[in-house]
Amino acid sequence: MDTCWSCEKPLKVIKGKPYHYTESGLKNIILHGINQYECTACGEKAAEIPRVEDLHFVISKILVCKKTLLSGCEIRFLRKEMGLKSNVMAKILSVDPSTLSRWENAKGPVDESSDKLLRVIYMCWASEQRKEVLFQDLLKLEPVIHHGHPSKRIPQPAKIELTAAEWTVPTPGPAFVPANC
Ligand SMILES: [Zn+2]
Repeated sequence: MDTCWSCEKPLKVIKGKPYHYTESGLKNIILHGINQYECTACGEKAAEIPRVEDLHFVISKILVCKKTLLSGCEIRFLRKEMGLKSNVMAKILSVDPSTLSRWENAKGPVDESSDKLLRVIYMCWASEQRKEVLFQDLLKLEPVIHHGHPSKRIPQPAKIELTAAEWTVPTPGPAFVPANC
């Protein structure tokens, strides 16, 4: 990438600046160690993200192991990762499409059993895709979702910070270890 895709003027390379990865559909993903480009003429900006598929897998792992209920955009992210349309996802979760839509659009919190089912479905799907068993201590998934009154729930993590090495260098061992996440 050396000229602007919009005006064909030279691009400036920006290194070492954190990148807010809003294209993921998630609000709190910050990427480090990737190159960004800015057009010196029209101001267009873009980032060069290597191995997006692996990055999305790492993000999904974090979501599946998190201790708080999935947010609307996180539910949508996991659904899209599996390439499912919302009506198909609703059917799998045995909920009405309007219920799923309400969750995804943050009009109401997901119920705990659907949240858990979605995580387990994602884990099985990812294992199928990668042709290996990716989880360990699956039964420890039980306590990860905080029970109790919504006001007492653990707040959503403000930011998920990822460095390029975290998704470009493969890590050995099971991917999903609920108790340690
Ligand atoms: Zn330009």
